[in-house]
Amino acid sequence: MVMQRFGQVWDSLAAKDDMPEIDAPIGQICTRCGETVEAGDSGVTMMTFEDDMSGCQRPMHHACFVRTFVGGVNHQRGTSFSCGGADDPDPPGLTVRQAAELAAKEYLIHGFPHKKTEMKGKNVPSME
Ligand SMILES: [Zn+2]
Repeated sequence: MVMQRFGQVWDSLAAKDDMPEIDAPIGQICTRCGETVEAGDSGVTMMTFEDDMSGCQRPMHHACFVRTFVGGVNHQRGTSFSCGGADDPDPPGLTVRQAAELAAKEYLIHGFPHKKTEMKGKNVPSME
């Protein structure tokens, strides 16, 4: 079992129907932001390997998970250094989780801008 989901299901979560739903792993640490999973959080768990190579399911908040594939808000807006701009992918002064929440919100409101702009028609898989 590779991924499981917990909490509210977002339509944007690809392959969500193939993921078993589990109770939120309250108190466990998100592998991206380092904050704990609290009651009411949503997200996924993914198989990770411990030092002894045993497998273990570790959680990631949904926004933190979305941030891993859509990039930071400045990346989505095309102003980050990875897009030829001058900004860091995430705005300064935010925690990792706050930046992830902002990036996920931007993505859910505006979609994936690369699909609509410079990568349009270049054989890029649709995010829809
Ligand atoms: Zn997180």
